[in-house]
Amino acid sequence: MGRRLEVDRASCFGTGLCSATAPRFFTLGPDHVAAVTTGELTDPDDIALAEEVAECCPREAISLRPA
Ligand code: SF4
Repeated sequence: MGRRLEVDRASCFGTGLCSATAPRFFTLGPDHVAAVTTGELTDPDDIALAEEVAECCPREAISLRPA
């Protein structure tokens, strides 16, 4: 099953950790708030990487929900 990657933009404080670690999935906007660059993840390796990044986010702003 796929996962939908989301960033809670209200919680993000723009460390850039996610966009530096997984630039295929995240971008940091000019407002220094992260956004996802992809919607649903289906590849298990992509999901594993996204989960790892989510665990490292200091604001717990990244979530993966069942797609
Ligand atoms: S790691 Fe978390 S706090 Fe840092 S830019 Fe990404 S979503 Fe925002």
